[in-house]
Amino acid sequence: MANAAVSIVKVTDIYESLKESLRLSDGLAGLNINDRILIKPNIVSWDFDLPYPPFGVVTTSTVIEALVRILAENGFKDLTIGEGALPGLSSKWDAVCETLGYTKLQVRYGVKLVDFNKGEFLAVDYGDGFKLDIAKQSLEADKIINLPVLKTHNQAKVSLGIKNLKGCLNKKSKQACHGVDAEELSLTFPRIIEKLPVALTIIDGLYTIEKGPGHTGKAFRKDLLITSRDPFACDLVGAEILGYPAKEVAHLSNYAKRHGYSLELADYEIKGESVADHREFVTYDWEWTEDDTGPVGFKKRGITGLAIRKYDSSLCTGCSVEFNPMLILFGSAFKGKPFPKVELVSGKQQKASAGFDNSVFFGKCACHSNKDNPNVTKAIPIWGCPPDLEKLVEVLAKEGIECDFKEYVRFRHYLFDRYKKEEGFDLADWTVSR
Ligand code: SF4
Repeated sequence: MANAAVSIVKVTDIYESLKESLRLSDGLAGLNINDRILIKPNIVSWDFDLPYPPFGVVTTSTVIEALVRILAENGFKDLTIGEGALPGLSSKWDAVCETLGYTKLQVRYGVKLVDFNKGEFLAVDYGDGFKLDIAKQSLEADKIINLPVLKTHNQAKVSLGIKNLKGCLNKKSKQACHGVDAEELSLTFPRIIEKLPVALTIIDGLYTIEKGPGHTGKAFRKDLLITSRDPFACDLVGAEILGYPAKEVAHLSNYAKRHGYSLELADYEIKGESVADHREFVTYDWEWTEDDTGPVGFKKRGITGLAIRKYDSSLCTGCSVEFNPMLILFGSAFKGKPFPKVELVSGKQQKASAGFDNSVFFGKCACHSNKDNPNVTKAIPIWGCPPDLEKLVEVLAKEGIECDFKEYVRFRHYLFDRYKKEEGFDLADWTVSR
């Protein structure tokens, strides 16, 4: 019971509920009013071109606003919001800050807004050969308040506070976290926090999402805040609420082993609501066929002649966010006839197998690792890191596989529109009130 308490609060009024969660967890106890405080939300991606439902994907601005207001009322003056989203978003960082209302917080409270991707990264040696390039602004903060979303992750099962810190790395180190063997995802990213001054974790559970971390999964309204000064305890409780005991989550087990934590919920002090009252299993992964030829939906549609191998943990976020759209595009090319013996592999370790006439390599890693693969009859490399979807359509068209990009656009509208009928899904949660 030596760990700091974890509070679980049902959200009624966000400002009041956050105050209550901080009171119960003694959340501000580790902060000094002169501290340079970095608030780290989760803004993994945003899209200005096609409809983008942020439910359960991006930290809500209403929680950020409430936090900044509470900090200001308690005398904290040196506040920064910092994130290192997918590199493609860097040119739109100002627009993202405007859309999410952060610029209002800048005017009202003097909050600094930092895109890590535009700043300096320092090489940090963890002392045992493990090295990462970490955003200087996050290393130089006196304290970090980590504000992840309560969500599932199709590779890591859950993506909570410890995972959210991956946004403090540069592109190279983010990719390196998706390595193989000793550099496997569940062993690498839990180490980032060891060099960061995380003083408080607040899991934004206004919404959650199945088959996360991106917007292609289905979101649910949850209305919870989970808060603790202990980042592991906070994640353990968040994982339990999503239906995953910590011992079933590899990165939490690895972290616990390394830092001497218990994996038993009973060993942690929980204040406010009980886990049992809010625990609800949320599916983390997409269902694949038993013979690994594609999502079960493809089989149901009668798609044959095509084997899209399931992504593994070496596929990093850049390719991962393109994977579902790629499936939609392949699905759009199916006109009732079998595909011409096509296999698609991705990530850093998948190898094309024998028996296919066409081997598609999705992303530069798969292109490189299959360069000399004797199984390949005809290589169809989709270069890029991550590959560009329009390019994919163009390359496949040359091979007689006619994908319809409009189908992907329709899919994006479907993803967005399905929340319009649902009660409680409010895009105003990603704006700042005044
Ligand atoms: S090609 Fe894909 S898997 Fe490889 S480094 Fe780039 S984003 Fe990661």
